[in-house]
Amino acid sequence: MLGGMLTATTATHCPYCALQCGMNLRPVGDGVEVVERTDFPVNRGALCGKGRTAPAVLSSRVRLDGPLVRRPATGRLEPATWEEALRTVADGLRGTREEYGADAVGVFGGGGLTNEKAYTLGKFARLVLGTSQIDYNGRFCMSSAAAAHQRAFGLDRGLPFPLEDIPRTGCVILVGSNLAETMPPALRYLTELKANGGRLIVVDPRRTRTAEQADLHLAPRPGTDLALALGLLHLVVAEGRTDEEFIESRTTGWAEARAAAMSHWPAQVERITGVPVPQLREAAAMFCDAPEGMVLTARGPEQQSKGTDTVGAWINLCLATGRAGRPLSGYGCLTGQGNGQGGREHGQKADQLPGYRKLDDPAARAHVAGVWGVDPNTLPGPGRSAYELLDALGTDIKALLLMGSNPVVSAPRAAHIQERIESLDFLAVADVVLSETAALADVVLPVTQWAEETGTLTNLEGRVLLRRRAVDPPEGVRTDLEVLNALAALLGWEKGFATDPEEVFDELRRASAGGPADYAGISYRRIAEEDGVFWPCPEPGHPGTPRLFLERFATPDGRARFVPVTHRAAGEETDAAYPVVLTTGRVVSQYQSGAQTRRVDELNAAAPGPFVELHPRLAGRLGVAEGEPVAVVSRRGRAVAPARITTGIRPDTVFMPFHWAGEGRANTLTNPALDPTSRMPEFKVCAVRLEAVRPQAGPAPQAGVVPEEDPAPRAGTAPQAAPPVGGGPAVSGGPAVGGG
Ligand code: SF4
Repeated sequence: MLGGMLTATTATHCPYCALQCGMNLRPVGDGVEVVERTDFPVNRGALCGKGRTAPAVLSSRVRLDGPLVRRPATGRLEPATWEEALRTVADGLRGTREEYGADAVGVFGGGGLTNEKAYTLGKFARLVLGTSQIDYNGRFCMSSAAAAHQRAFGLDRGLPFPLEDIPRTGCVILVGSNLAETMPPALRYLTELKANGGRLIVVDPRRTRTAEQADLHLAPRPGTDLALALGLLHLVVAEGRTDEEFIESRTTGWAEARAAAMSHWPAQVERITGVPVPQLREAAAMFCDAPEGMVLTARGPEQQSKGTDTVGAWINLCLATGRAGRPLSGYGCLTGQGNGQGGREHGQKADQLPGYRKLDDPAARAHVAGVWGVDPNTLPGPGRSAYELLDALGTDIKALLLMGSNPVVSAPRAAHIQERIESLDFLAVADVVLSETAALADVVLPVTQWAEETGTLTNLEGRVLLRRRAVDPPEGVRTDLEVLNALAALLGWEKGFATDPEEVFDELRRASAGGPADYAGISYRRIAEEDGVFWPCPEPGHPGTPRLFLERFATPDGRARFVPVTHRAAGEETDAAYPVVLTTGRVVSQYQSGAQTRRVDELNAAAPGPFVELHPRLAGRLGVAEGEPVAVVSRRGRAVAPARITTGIRPDTVFMPFHWAGEGRANTLTNPALDPTSRMPEFKVCAVRLEAVRPQAGPAPQAGVVPEEDPAPRAGTAPQAAPPVGGGPAVSGGPAVGGG
């Protein structure tokens, strides 16, 4: 069902994760195939199965090829013209605004949207709708690391150095990241590190395929990474391994941070984390013995109700040992979503204007309002964070426009969020396929996907990339930029919005100029010629900035800030009723909410559905064998999936991947306890109990495979069989939360 064919091989990028692997798309038969692109330095031709099979989503039979509008007479989503669909959306948003006020209209974006889309979505919300109620699913992914970055360094860029530096450092502590599953081509940076004589410490409650590569694997209880980092810092101080010259010349706040760490004695840290003191000592010595060192975190320590402080504790360890702001040393966050970095820089966040400017900063408002040609006083203030916005649906927020996200699968406490979505007066969703969330909409707008459109993304290194259009989209779909421009016109915005991505990018450059994430010197031409350009890049002659902080940190005084942090319990501790810890994450053959990947036969064959990973001791107590169904019950709901028994997980912990809907939906269970700074929900820790489930006669259901029937008719409407649209029904949505 490809809309148009390639005439030549096109160099572009993968539609999925933040590594943004380079690939070539080549015509073959009536489709396209991925071939190696060895000249792109990040992946040097390597791809995981998701990237290799990505063209399957372009031609999927479940691809939406025309708008859908829910008919009152039947309660069903039925085909409509673009004119009718857009008019219905405009009427729905306008009517809500007139009846309840602008803040009764919400907008929810995604970390997979290109920079141009994220920028335009934020501009649309603030200028056309006049609402403060916009946020995006990236809040569920990297927000704690972003907040900790800002607090310590005055600037948030996931990695302050390129990936190519990793093999040349002396020691890496990898915290809560399973690169072997989340971005396999990046694993070679760790392999090369070890080949060069460097050491690798992995911190993870599970002995993952990444942890198996480590010189030392520390397996703390989920939710105790903060105590672990404090324990290591305590030992570094006690052993006299701090870098006093660095602390004196490049930092502030050491006395308070030091005192906080010294109150966490190793024996106490062992009791909290379960990591034996000798292992703590070995880790501290390994890190300090190396001439340079890095700490890299991912969703494990970040997706906690104390994620910002947890990342802050690891940053403190880097600062105390002089492993920051120097070549081959530093702290970095391994961003998860495809545009997780750029998506948090240009205005779809609740508190933010383009260029990573703050919405409550008068100078920032004046600058961006000048680019937009409006009075700064007309810009709304900061709104709710992602979970809080979703939780307000149906009460304070009556109508929602959603792009590139599937919160019915990806939000914490997902059954509750699904109820909130169902209680909306009006829901419009722009997506590629009929996701679980789109299936609840009043209007579904089918939009183009990765290889059918051009746009920039910013990968986990801060490298701005150009993903090129390689095929024509099917007739009947439009780009998100075209959708927003058409809606703006229908809602009376006479100035219009640009629909050409390069034109949008040039405006974004002006809006970001002088801001923390300054793209002013980056152009489509430069990106194409230079394999991407690292921000900040304030003018066309500037080389870009692959390495940050070498001279000074981005704080007003140029010094990095220690922040004193202390251990505290997770939002929900285990007890007699819920005695086991649940942690969630990803598997290699699915991506986020399964949006695109659950459309790919090869990926479904490799990862057909959810599972509950548990230790043999726990399985024995429960009386379940490998593959038998297990019910996992939390205070928020119940999920059922087959047991996967392994000694590679702590006996007090179970793991579930979160890519699927239905009875195996992991996020039915997760706890929306929020970090007070980042507003990140606690996806990585909640208390559960396990129950054996008597197996049903007959073959086990494949819970994760795309169902053949529409899975989610709108509440209060008649059940709907297969949607009457080309290619049939499906489940999916845009990229959603990140996984560790
Ligand atoms: Fe690369 Fe990530 Fe795509 Fe896999 S999913 S090919 S690791 S960008």
